[in-house]
Amino acid sequence: MKTVQARLVRVAHQGVMIWGIVEDDGVYKLEGSPYGTWESGEKLGVLDDLTLLPPTVPTKIVCVGRNYVAHAAEHGNAVPEAPLLFLKPPSSMIGHGDAVVLPPQSQRVEHEAELTVVIGRRCRNVTPEEAWAYVLGVTCGNDVTARDLQRADGQWTRGKGFDTFCPLGPWLVTGLAESDIADLAITCRVNGEVRQQGRTSEMVFSPPFIIAYAAAVMTLLPGDVIMTGTPAGVGPLAAGDRVEVDVEGIGVLRNPVQ
Ligand code: ZN
Repeated sequence: MKTVQARLVRVAHQGVMIWGIVEDDGVYKLEGSPYGTWESGEKLGVLDDLTLLPPTVPTKIVCVGRNYVAHAAEHGNAVPEAPLLFLKPPSSMIGHGDAVVLPPQSQRVEHEAELTVVIGRRCRNVTPEEAWAYVLGVTCGNDVTARDLQRADGQWTRGKGFDTFCPLGPWLVTGLAESDIADLAITCRVNGEVRQQGRTSEMVFSPPFIIAYAAAVMTLLPGDVIMTGTPAGVGPLAAGDRVEVDVEGIGVLRNPVQ
């Protein structure tokens, strides 16, 4: 993959969804492909003035449950012996600043701050040692979950799948080495108060291990999303809240709740 470190965004520009490159406070049109080679084009605007879309267009969002020991324990679950995979629908994605909408079917919607990986090229049957070479970049994700429905249903499609339940962004940071993401602080704040705090080094299964495990089941395609699990401290969201997912050195993803 491309080794250039850059912050990539997706924005709506003159009615078309396009990729941009963030340089200082400005956003410039990405000429080329984020999955291949690119260069900076015309200036699209200033970051604060643009509406950011989720920074990828996936065919699937692959998630892993109970990947932090302390989070598994807070729900009385054992750490699994292998990654516990589930899917969220791409229709659940929203961008930085978009509202998480609480659905009437749930009385308990919770935040889950997660380091989120985006695949850069077709990936099938790779080893954990090879897996990171298939990654385009990383971003911040919030695996919003209707906890009551997740428990009641026994499987997680409804509890994890509502529209707006997958905030991603604000941007995709490309060109990182596996070692760059091995020990980053992950924090979730609600209305400025710290709710979750952990480090990526506390994961049970590393992102490359999860990619290899998933790619032994399904072909991962460019743009596909891997959400790597959440640290302890998950808790409820209420209308009027502002929820933030902060991944050290990557960015802060901020979304209102309504
Ligand atoms: Zn999760």
